[in-house]
Amino acid sequence: MSIASNLNQFQEYLDGTCCKLVAVSKTKTESEIMEAYNTGFRRFGENLVQELKKKQHLLPKDIEWHMIGHLQTNKVKKIAAFVSMIHGVDSLKLAAEINKQAVLNKRVIPCLLQVHIAREESKFGFEASDLLDLIKSGAFDGFAQVKIAGLMGMATFTQDQELIRAEFRKLKTLFEEIKSTATGKNFDFTELSMGMSNDYQIAVEEGSTMIRVGSSIFGARN
Ligand SMILES: *Cc1c(COP(=O)(O)O)cnc(C)c1O
Repeated sequence: MSIASNLNQFQEYLDGTCCKLVAVSKTKTESEIMEAYNTGFRRFGENLVQELKKKQHLLPKDIEWHMIGHLQTNKVKKIAAFVSMIHGVDSLKLAAEINKQAVLNKRVIPCLLQVHIAREESKFGFEASDLLDLIKSGAFDGFAQVKIAGLMGMATFTQDQELIRAEFRKLKTLFEEIKSTATGKNFDFTELSMGMSNDYQIAVEEGSTMIRVGSSIFGARN
C-alpha cells in the first residue's frame, strides 16, 4: 500500500466523525512527506525539535506542524515561530516558557496538556488526579498567549483492548470535567488528542478529536 492510499483510507474512516488526523512523519523523509502532501493533506506531527525545524524549513510553508513529543523548555524558542500545536505540555514551567516565546513572536500558541494515563512508568504528563485542582487554582490563567486547547494522552502499549478503553475513557472524563470548570480566558477546551496506530479505533469510539498515526500511514520506522 502507498502512503497516499493509506492516508485516504484514514480520511474515509474519519469522515463523518469529529476526529482529525495528525500524520506522524517522524524519521520519514521529505519526499515521503510530500507524497502525503500531494494528496492535499496538511497536518503533520514530529517528536524531535531538530527534525521538526529542518523539515519545516525544507517543506511547503502551508503545512500545519504539530509537536507531539516531549519538549524541553530550552528548545521552545526553536519552534515557537511556526508550530501549530504543542501536544505535550506537562509542566507549568514549560507552559510559562511557551507563553514567553509566544509573546516574543507576537502570536498565540495552541497547546494540549499531557496527562499520564498509562500503566507504564513515565516521567511525562500531569497526573490525572492533580490536574483539575491545578487548573481550578488558576495556575495556567496568566499565560495569555498559550491557548489551552485540550488534553493529550497515550494509553498503555498492550493488546488488552479493555485496558486501553478504560484509560481513554478516564481521559475523556477528565477532559469534560475541565471543560466545564475551567474559567481562564486562555482556555478553549476543544481537542482531545488520543489514539495511535495500535489503538486509534478505540480512541475514536471514546471521543478522540485528534488521532496521531505514524506507522499505519508511512510504514514501520527504521
Ligand atoms: C510516534 C508517536 C505516535 C505515532 O505512533 P504510531 O504507532 O507509529 O502510529 C503518536 N504519538 C506520539 C506521541 C508519538 O511519539
